[in-house]
Amino acid sequence: MKYSTMLERFLNYVKFETRSDASSLTIPSTMQQKEFLKMLKLELEEIGLSDIVLTKENCFLTATLPANTKKQFDKIGFISHVDTAAFNAIDIKPKVIEKYDGKDIVLNDTDNILMTVENFPNLKNYIGKTLITTDGTTLLGADDKAGIVEIVEAMKYLLEHPEIEHGEIRVAFGPDEEIGRGADNFDAKYFNTDYAYTMDGGVLGELQYESFNAAQITYKIKGVSVHPGTAKDKMKNANTIAVELASLFPKKEVPEHTSGYEGFYLLHDLQARIEEATLTYIIRDFDKKQFLDRKSFCENVAKQINDKYGDVVEYEMFDQYYNMGDIIEKDKRSVDIAELAMKNLDIKPIIIPIRGGTDGSKISYMGIPTPNIFVGGENFHGQYEFSCLEDMKKAADVIVEIAKLAQK
Ligand SMILES: [Zn+2]
Repeated sequence: MKYSTMLERFLNYVKFETRSDASSLTIPSTMQQKEFLKMLKLELEEIGLSDIVLTKENCFLTATLPANTKKQFDKIGFISHVDTAAFNAIDIKPKVIEKYDGKDIVLNDTDNILMTVENFPNLKNYIGKTLITTDGTTLLGADDKAGIVEIVEAMKYLLEHPEIEHGEIRVAFGPDEEIGRGADNFDAKYFNTDYAYTMDGGVLGELQYESFNAAQITYKIKGVSVHPGTAKDKMKNANTIAVELASLFPKKEVPEHTSGYEGFYLLHDLQARIEEATLTYIIRDFDKKQFLDRKSFCENVAKQINDKYGDVVEYEMFDQYYNMGDIIEKDKRSVDIAELAMKNLDIKPIIIPIRGGTDGSKISYMGIPTPNIFVGGENFHGQYEFSCLEDMKKAADVIVEIAKLAQK
């Protein structure tokens, strides 16, 4: 049977606690990620990949499946991240539900935790299939261990089937995607492919090549605290100035009122006292010009407050990642091949923009166009996360099919 070790391998992977930690300054941010990568390195050796390297500097595990033909193929790559999101990931006890019957799923008997069809109507799409869920107290970690297992199983399959001709294929597994950092240290030159794919999407068929442009701005407001009884003409209340600053932002351009290609500002963090307030906003837009306009708007907000109150506001703004679509549009071969691969496998491609970023948002700007492909799971980053074994196998099929189609 194809991918006969997929389930067992996946259940082993998710039991490793690999949560990343935004407050840590080390690479990787948590040592558990490195432990997992060391185990994964042994597995890559076992299946017979070449050039297996786990680097000290960026903690990326890379390997090569050498070409098995003289025919000319594009050099392609597949990438997944080993860390899990900021949610309880200790003592993950995955549950396997075979031939799912379409009814509410009892995740946890003791604590009476249910995943109901009413709350998660998509469950109806999985009737008759094999689901892997949590026990209701942790996340599952299918984001992105499903991606890892699919890449590993696809490479194993190609090694076991030398009759399938393919070019050189590179794989990479890295840390700290969930804290937006891992790909900063990705060595694209060393990886050296024509294009690549992150296996880090959700439901069957997802193919994504557009992401947000992203920046963050933090305003620091310096107030002047004076005894309220004698404060006339002296106090500058950072609390009320913060409220005024926030009121200058458009009310409708926020995550809860936007969708599709619409951008937004999100007040992500707010701390205020009379003497000092800080407000952190994230800025998101698909369109480069609108993104730049949004950044200017944010600078102008500070100017307006400073004009009114004297120089009370300072800000720091930095870019986080950019829309990989701007790079991939220039040469859409990576997307076209992935789309064709899905069609060949009777999978309906769902091509939608990601209202976020992936490792590919950064790696594309390092010169390797890197769209994102589904892993066959839903409800990531929480206790209702689940994956579907049949869809995971289809994701591995997509990898194998892309390998076949990448002939020049
Ligand atoms: Zn992910």
